[in-house]
Amino acid sequence: MSYEREKDVAVQAAIAASKLCQRVRQDIPAAMEKKDKSPVTVADYGSQALVCKALAEAFPEDAIVGEEDATALRQPEMADALTKVAAYVKEIESEATEGEVVKWIDRGNGKVASRFWTLDPIDGTKGFLRQDQYAVALALIDEGEVKLGVLACPALSIDTENSGVLFVAVRGEGAQMMPLSGGAAKAIAVCDAGDRANLRFVESVESSHGNPEQQNAVAQAVGIVTPSLRMDSQAKYGAVASGQAALYLRLPSPKSPDYRENIWDHAAGAIVVEEAGGRVSDMNGKSLDFSRNVKLKENRGVVVSNGTIHDTVLEALKNIV
Ligand code: AMP
Ligand code: MG
Repeated sequence: MSYEREKDVAVQAAIAASKLCQRVRQDIPAAMEKKDKSPVTVADYGSQALVCKALAEAFPEDAIVGEEDATALRQPEMADALTKVAAYVKEIESEATEGEVVKWIDRGNGKVASRFWTLDPIDGTKGFLRQDQYAVALALIDEGEVKLGVLACPALSIDTENSGVLFVAVRGEGAQMMPLSGGAAKAIAVCDAGDRANLRFVESVESSHGNPEQQNAVAQAVGIVTPSLRMDSQAKYGAVASGQAALYLRLPSPKSPDYRENIWDHAAGAIVVEEAGGRVSDMNGKSLDFSRNVKLKENRGVVVSNGTIHDTVLEALKNIV
């Protein structure tokens, strides 16, 4: 299956959501706090509303497993926030009302099914708030595996593209990158084994989302001599897929040893890297299973590489972790 229509709809939805995020960021967004204490902004809600609306119209049968839901936004004390979300959405979808916006957001409360979408409307909300990297991440899981991934990185510039980039991959068809402002897509590939200039590794800005000490030790053990490039969000997958880095390491944090990764934090990035010729696994070499649960329950840590160094990294991990 080529997923041509799914790809077109997902790309357009991610572009619209990115526009909304960029608009909100111009206005210096405030953070609200979710029940788990993580931050959320009007842009997280607005982005989820736009993407879910587009998917629900084009593929009414498909479930969407999104990070956000509108329960908090429906509370009376959040009335101002909802008004703001609806105003930003209306700039892009002129017929939007507050009532529709909460319904669109809640379309993302779907369950894992044989075919479903998973969405992180803003991956890296902390980076978004810091004026650093963030991503709109959307993936289609079908027949047990990720078949399509769209990763919009509005703050990422690669080569001469300064307006943000969008990565897209369909299983078996390779990965492409295109400027978010419009323009032709071009094929991307991970860096070669001999490419010393790009033999660097990426990791999260948030040290509590990984284990920086162990990550650094593993990188050194496989011959990476430069300090890591620290980036928020799945933009890290984009860096590996486009050959800007050879490795992305995300080892379990000692502060949250029982943490399990969310599927929306990895599905889109993973297929983009795999289709660009790279490899993605957990720290034990097991492939990530996106098809069963909202969490990667059976996986610990994430290792993303250009492929050629993957086995060496897994070996080094055995001695360090
Ligand atoms: P990053 O920008 O790579 O740091 O990733 C951001 C994502 O980290 C957020 O979407 C959270 O879902 C996720 N996250 C939150 N807490 C943890 C944790 N303790 N370990 C790993 N990831 C986490
Ligand atoms: Mg996220």
